[in-house]
Amino acid sequence: MSTLVIKDLHVAIEGKEILKGVNLTINTNEVHAIMGPNGTGKSTLAAAIMGHPKYEVIQGTIEIDGQNVLEMEVDERAKAGLFLAMQYPSEISGVTNADFIRSAINARRGEGNEISIMQFIRELDKTMEFLEMDSEMAQRYLNEGFSGGEKKRNEILQMMMLKPTFAILDEIDSGLDIDALKVVAKGVNAMRGENFGCLLITHYQRLLNYITPDYVHVMMQGRVVKSGGPELAKKLEAEGYEWIKKELGIEN
Ligand code: ADP
Ligand code: MG
Ligand code: MG
Repeated sequence: MSTLVIKDLHVAIEGKEILKGVNLTINTNEVHAIMGPNGTGKSTLAAAIMGHPKYEVIQGTIEIDGQNVLEMEVDERAKAGLFLAMQYPSEISGVTNADFIRSAINARRGEGNEISIMQFIRELDKTMEFLEMDSEMAQRYLNEGFSGGEKKRNEILQMMMLKPTFAILDEIDSGLDIDALKVVAKGVNAMRGENFGCLLITHYQRLLNYITPDYVHVMMQGRVVKSGGPELAKKLEAEGYEWIKKELGIEN
């Protein structure tokens, strides 16, 4: 079992404090959902875990099995088993999807331990079929001209190929129609198990109808203010966030 522990995390962007003391522990074999209104710092949390240079950690710790993640470069974090599917995946012209994924796999496996081309192609084909992706997507430039749904599906493809220990999926459901949503959920559910933990960031409970989380956390104003089980997401869907604000005495 592996554990990702975030303690008292404070993060600033351009000098402005956005995260104000986030505490979160995720074990493998667990799926955690983070919900919360727009602008509360959910994407900031994801970016800080992955080490985006714009996000400055001003206090707190992030550890995987006692290893200090904050001291690692971005590529070392990936090697340590972290994966982020960004809310807005970037396009990389001139690099095919297949090449990108193979480089990422090999970077994680390390020199001398590269995946064979045959094995890579076999796994890629199988996974793309599982995700109901057109095989020509492998040879297209990364995310270039991909529709919103194709980008999200592609993030799941990368995740399944890379087999991270911890995946952070930031609004992987946004802009998806129901069929694409089901495919994304199928991919995440296939990963679930002893070697995989997941942090699902979402605005809507809809995704959680297809991926039943073990824990649901509510983030507001840069903190995790409430945690519970799947029933908490249902309550949020039915009643919104006002009752939590009242309960906590948060204004606005
Ligand atoms: P969420 O994902 O919950 O919608 P974000 O983490 O994207 O929230 O944003 C939290 C706050 O940080 C917002 O007030 C947003 O305006 C601000 N913010 C996010 N990204 C940047 C950035 N790159 N530069 C400046 N401010 C940012
Ligand atoms: Mg947002
Ligand atoms: Mg966001």
